[in-house]
Amino acid sequence: MDCLFCKILAGEIPADIVYEDDHVVAFRDVNPQAPTHILVIPRRHIATLNDLSQEDGALISHICLTATQLAAEQGIADDGYRLVWNCNAQGGQAVYHIHLHLCGGRAMHWPPG
Ligand code: 5GP
Ligand code: ZN
Repeated sequence: MDCLFCKILAGEIPADIVYEDDHVVAFRDVNPQAPTHILVIPRRHIATLNDLSQEDGALISHICLTATQLAAEQGIADDGYRLVWNCNAQGGQAVYHIHLHLCGGRAMHWPPG
């Protein structure tokens, strides 16, 4: 499968991994948009949020809770941070393996661009 994040999971492309378990892996974004910018991804290939079903609820919960745990470990939880899921072209998705962005370490703006 020609998926960049599956290649990172397989160890074919190096990444700065900050957390991993049986279901998820978290690594630093190669082009960080904030002082802390980490991606949390499932080990299972899921192309977009549109491919999720009710059975994936526990996995999505685990991804979100991994991100909040990492926010605490990175020291950005109290000041605040942003979690972002991009979906498809107009959502700004570039890599078609779902991932949750954890961004923090600076003030975020709203609305997003
Ligand atoms: P998207 O736009 O799909 O929501 O986000 C994809 C993210 O993956 C981008 O923030 C981009 O910088 C990051 N990214 C793309 N290629 C690589 C890579 O090879 N390694 C890492 N660590 N991040 C990547
Ligand atoms: Zn993949």
